Amino acid sequence: MTVTPAHAIKTCPVCNSTTQNFLDINHYTIRRCRVCAHQFIQLEPRPESVKKSPLPEPAEDYGDYFREAKFLKLKGQHYAQLMSRYFKRPGRMLDVGSAAGFVLQGFIDRDWKASGIEPNAHLAEQAQTSGLRVVQDTLEDFRTTEKYDLITFIQVIAHFTQVQEAFRIAAEATQSKGFWLIETGNRDSLKAQLWGENWQAYHPPSTLHWFSPKDLKRLASQYGFQEVARGKPHQWVNVAHAKFSLRQKKVLY
Ligand SMILES: [Zn+2]
Repeated sequence: MTVTPAHAIKTCPVCNSTTQNFLDINHYTIRRCRVCAHQFIQLEPRPESVKKSPLPEPAEDYGDYFREAKFLKLKGQHYAQLMSRYFKRPGRMLDVGSAAGFVLQGFIDRDWKASGIEPNAHLAEQAQTSGLRVVQDTLEDFRTTEKYDLITFIQVIAHFTQVQEAFRIAAEATQSKGFWLIETGNRDSLKAQLWGENWQAYHPPSTLHWFSPKDLKRLASQYGFQEVARGKPHQWVNVAHAKFSLRQKKVLY
């Protein structure tokens, strides 16, 4: 029998409205907001004593990730190039969920002063061994006095256990004219619509949120950000994901 875990939160993490059961997968119930349609399984924060990355620790589980190192660096370079339309010169950026730092390296290759945070100890250590500024932490627990011109979230927001807290912390760490670049699955994509319940992105509990552009915009707006551009990653990325680039309202068009 599939049940909603006792520790699941039923209030929408985007708009705080009531939700209803939507789909049962992997013994988890995905809930859908009655107002904004956001889909999610939001778990209560784990006690400090059992806090760990939602990702498995052993390096061998990341075979695909390491095999894609070259493409991830290219992705970083590509995104750095995209962001150059908003910046006169490369600035200071933070990559959230930077893993072993391949995307981060792509930004560094394009002269960004880049650092990252990564909850997985093994991957953070790999990045550090490569000479990258990556600290082992979750965004929800991250504390910094730095202000970044750009914060990137490449395939990470679907994994946040406290997405509102994560965005609040990110907003505090963003310059007043700064940007966020978010890459995540698109619940409204043709692929998601065609596959329905079998959409590959439905694999809780490693994935906790399923966004559409509409509810992601709604969530980001609560932290002073608005969408300025949207697109899809290049073909060399294996999966089709929507990409959003957001900037704060203070920036003039
Ligand atoms: Zn909602």
